[in-house]
Amino acid sequence: MNKRDYYEVLGVTKKASKTEIKSAYRKLALKYHPDRNKASDSEEKFKEISEAYAVLSDDKKRSQYDQFGHAGIDSRYTSEDLFREVNFDEIFRNSGFGFGGLGGLFEQFFGGGGRSRSSQNRGADMQQEIAITLEEVANGVNKTIRVHRKEKCSVCNGSGAKPGSKVKSCPDCRGAGEVQYVQSAGFARVMRVETCRKCRGRGDVVEIPCTQCRGLGLSSKISTIKVDIPPGIDSGSSLRLTGEGEAGPHGGSPGDLYVVIFVKPHSTFERHGDDIVFEKKISFAEAALGTDIEIPGLQEKLNLKIPSGIQSGTVMRLRNKGIPHLRRYGHGDELVHVLVETPVKLNKKQREMFEELARMSSVKIHKKTGLFR
Ligand SMILES: [Zn+2]
Ligand SMILES: [Zn+2]
Repeated sequence: MNKRDYYEVLGVTKKASKTEIKSAYRKLALKYHPDRNKASDSEEKFKEISEAYAVLSDDKKRSQYDQFGHAGIDSRYTSEDLFREVNFDEIFRNSGFGFGGLGGLFEQFFGGGGRSRSSQNRGADMQQEIAITLEEVANGVNKTIRVHRKEKCSVCNGSGAKPGSKVKSCPDCRGAGEVQYVQSAGFARVMRVETCRKCRGRGDVVEIPCTQCRGLGLSSKISTIKVDIPPGIDSGSSLRLTGEGEAGPHGGSPGDLYVVIFVKPHSTFERHGDDIVFEKKISFAEAALGTDIEIPGLQEKLNLKIPSGIQSGTVMRLRNKGIPHLRRYGHGDELVHVLVETPVKLNKKQREMFEELARMSSVKIHKKTGLFR
């Protein structure tokens, strides 16, 4: 699927402020709101701008997007997730759209037959941190983590009903999961739909609850989960494992597990984006004469030619020896920060040689200025 650039979708520049982004979105959203715009593609448009807005209005997602484009967002959030994050009440305040006009949008776009039923019974999302080394970042790694979460009760298989007992249609809502109320508000009579309290929107109730889980359909377990970490991942970013969060009560669908990556500091290298920085001290003589040295790399030892006359503080770049770009071709570089050490203690012979050097340099200077002929 070819997604358009989010900035382009909202018609703002990459430098746009949060206020500019919000007002651009508001304008477009009012224009393409399916209640107002009956063009056949208005829904698609509305979804597209809402998704763009969800990403660009969130500092963290925006920076991920700026760095990696759609690849930085896609795997973690579906269009549905992003749509869910937009605060429509705030955006459409004083716009003439009532809450009722928006409540149905989600279902209209993403279906699922009854939002209240699925969201009521969906298990919670979970978050877990995982620490990896810089070498693991460079190569990618498969990790196994232990997660303490609620899973389907094994006795009733999540239904909450005692084995052998029946699950019957809820008498309060007759299986609909929703109850309608009529309220008077001033002159108007407003129809309100609420989730049924007896069955909590499920539409059915159990006759005899499972004794193991007391009818909830859940039990706490510690499970091991495999996490496939792609090369090039950054500290603080997270991977979404769909359906690996907590199980939903009464057999509801599970939430997602977000694995947050923490990259441990490295003893030799410092990470700057996809570049790695290594600090190398060389002697005064090596700096003056030039030398070939061996330096550590992420994958193997590397050779580096130090040119004669190098100055302390010079940064030398070894191309493509850094960290692979996340989900993109190519690598960062290894940067060698060269520091020249001035000798602190000199033995007699060394002192004589430096004095000789000094005499030679001063002669040169005098020659240049013409004072010494
Ligand atoms: Zn049970
Ligand atoms: Zn009910």
